[in-house]
Parts: sequence; C-alpha cells; structure tokens
Amino acid sequence: MTVVVPDEFKYLYVTDEDHPIVKVPSEVLLGHAEEVERVTKRHQTVAENMVRIMRAAKGIGLAAPQIGLRERIVVVSVEGRTTVIFNPRITESSGTQVGEEGCLSIPGLYGDVERAEKVVVEGLDRKGRESTWDMDGLAARVVQHEIDHLDGVLFTEKVDPATLYWQHPSEKPERAE
Ligand SMILES: [Zn+2]
Repeated sequence: MTVVVPDEFKYLYVTDEDHPIVKVPSEVLLGHAEEVERVTKRHQTVAENMVRIMRAAKGIGLAAPQIGLRERIVVVSVEGRTTVIFNPRITESSGTQVGEEGCLSIPGLYGDVERAEKVVVEGLDRKGRESTWDMDGLAARVVQHEIDHLDGVLFTEKVDPATLYWQHPSEKPERAE
C-alpha cells in the first residue's frame, strides 16, 4: 500500500545529518539487501552507528537499509538487551501473535501486524561468529520486522488496514522499529 502522509506529520519525513533515518518513499527501503560476506571493522562500525541512531530515535530495532545501506544487518533492542545480527535468517518459527507496530521509516503510523510468536534466528554476531538466537514475544516481533526490511518489505504490507492510525511519535515512546 502507498502511505499518504498527513500534512501535520510531513515535517518528520526529512533525512539529513541530524535525522539519519531514511523515510518512505525512498527507493533503498524497497530493495533487496546483500549478504555480508565477512564481518569487518567497517561492518562493526556500521552496527555501532545503527545502535546509536536507533537509541537516539527511541526505537527498538533498526535495519541497515533504514540508514541507506543495502546490507543484511539488523539490530534489535528489547527489554534492555541489544542484539546485532549480520545475515539474519529465520530457521524455525512457531505460534502467532498480533500486536501493534510502528516503523522509524514511516514515523507516526501504527497498526496491528500478525507475526510468529517464537522464532529461531541464525546469523553472525558482532564478532562475525555463527550464532543462534531464540526469540519470543516482542523481540521475535521486532526481528521479523527488521528482517522484512532486508527484503524491501514494510509493515504496511502486512498490517491489518482497519487498525492503522496516525499519532505523533513523541506520544508513543520506544515503540517503533
Ligand atoms: Zn521498520
């Protein structure tokens, strides 16, 4: 679906030095991100920057395309635990959950999305080691949202359209991905 941004939210849709997160309808959000062949110092720096940018935006997750990079890197920050995953892939999923999502690339828009309740994610950790993460609840929701970003999929493609609404992000702290 095409997101039509209401006039009073348009000022949130800037990308510049002070607002590094890319917003819709930027092309980079719709493309496929490439695998990281080997985790280098540069990738680690990118991941550190992503964590910093996510926190500054009061987000709980971020994917590299959201800072303009077509690389398979996600960060998830739920309940005080911050996880960096290179080349994340879901190898098992079970159950379902329906919950509200927002997106740092579509600020101000929220709606309910159905996701798996539990997932097992494989990928490379911050140091480039093969690792496995068991995630459930909110962390599982966020990692599914972020992995979708790596394939150019936004939550607005999966949302229950009847639940979509606009609210100023400052009234909903630490909710968006
Ligand atoms: Zn998002």
